[in-house]
Amino acid sequence: MSWDVILIRYGEIGLKSRRIRRIFENKLINNIKTVVDGKIKKERGRIFLYPENFEDALEKLKKIFGIVSFSPCYEVEPDLDVIVNKVLEVAKEYLSEGDSFRIVARRSNGHSFTSVDVAKKCGAAILKEFKEKNLKVDLKKGKEIYVEVRKNKAYIFTEIIEGLKGLPLGTQGCVVGLLSGGIDSPVAIFLMMKRGCKVLPVFFDSRPYISDAYVERAKKVYEKLKEYSIGEEFELIIFPYGRITDFIVKNIPSRYTCVFCKRGMLKIAEEIAKRNNCLGIVTGENLGQVASQTLSNMLAITDATTLPVFRPLLTYDKDEIMALARKISTYDVSTLDAGSCTAVPDRVATKSFIDEVLKIEKESGFNDIIKEEVKKFFKESDSDAEGC
Ligand code: ATP
Ligand code: MG
Repeated sequence: MSWDVILIRYGEIGLKSRRIRRIFENKLINNIKTVVDGKIKKERGRIFLYPENFEDALEKLKKIFGIVSFSPCYEVEPDLDVIVNKVLEVAKEYLSEGDSFRIVARRSNGHSFTSVDVAKKCGAAILKEFKEKNLKVDLKKGKEIYVEVRKNKAYIFTEIIEGLKGLPLGTQGCVVGLLSGGIDSPVAIFLMMKRGCKVLPVFFDSRPYISDAYVERAKKVYEKLKEYSIGEEFELIIFPYGRITDFIVKNIPSRYTCVFCKRGMLKIAEEIAKRNNCLGIVTGENLGQVASQTLSNMLAITDATTLPVFRPLLTYDKDEIMALARKISTYDVSTLDAGSCTAVPDRVATKSFIDEVLKIEKESGFNDIIKEEVKKFFKESDSDAEGC
């Protein structure tokens, strides 16, 4: 027996005003269309996908934001006898000797029968047809056979596959994502994507203060995240940051190395954002996770940009972040051995004094170096990343 259609459920979009809902639904459908070949039909709260390749489509749907769940289904006419016959076919394959089962039915208005009628009739027919299998009805724990009767068709399925949820990618504008390749930043970027943001990922290449393996790890993590960027561009920008890191090491008091490193990243991210219509910057920072991630340091870092800095992981525990990283399969690549940044001093300031930071910044000529590197970068690449 082969499936006829995949029924796709989307949640939050259904709650928006009609105009916004239409925009969101169309974006979700377009995102699906970029990776799945086949016909698509839309009804309120549901999308029906008739893919050319079911296995492939089911895998792709697991990576598309804005989908609550989906089910491969059989599609029949919304007639009670027709439904019962199809349910019997499904039960023949799906239920084994001694199984308990239940029919979970729902139906839209406009039919001469109720959902209870559907459940009762299908249940009774199964018990009668497969007497020798010794089946039982268990309304709480039985294996489910779902019947969803809509206006024009009825859908029968046995599986509800969880989607990523969130909002369709690209419905909330664009942000620059600071992607280090460690465990945190890919998860932070994923969470912004989940809320519908297109992300422009940027990696700062601090070689020789980081290893080649560090850069390779960032690229690999980027490739993993790219799998979720269905429907939107997701091109990695690698910004050469070695000269700036070197300047910091040689000219900035070592307790402020990390603060200046992040200030520089945000200043450059802002330049990249302006050129690509991005409305914010996302980082994987977390309150108190490492010595440099204190409130006063974050204040001193955030001050470097006028754009909002989004930190979706701010309040997460490390094990929660690790669990998410595993779930989105970035964990294994993020934990590849890549060494750490050798510019980081033994002791970093846990409390930054913003006046002092600004004074050091002014006197050291830090901003001139940043400007030079930004100018050089854009002249050389003229940013080949796509705008939002
Ligand atoms: P991560 O696990 O994401 O590496 P972390 O906990 O190690 O983060 P830091 O090294 O202090 O924390 O970095 C804080 C944030 O700054 C990162 O989450 C990331 O968003 C950004 N960041 C750090 N290094 C880089 C880099 N080389 N390129 C781009 N962004 C970076
Ligand atoms: Mg890190």
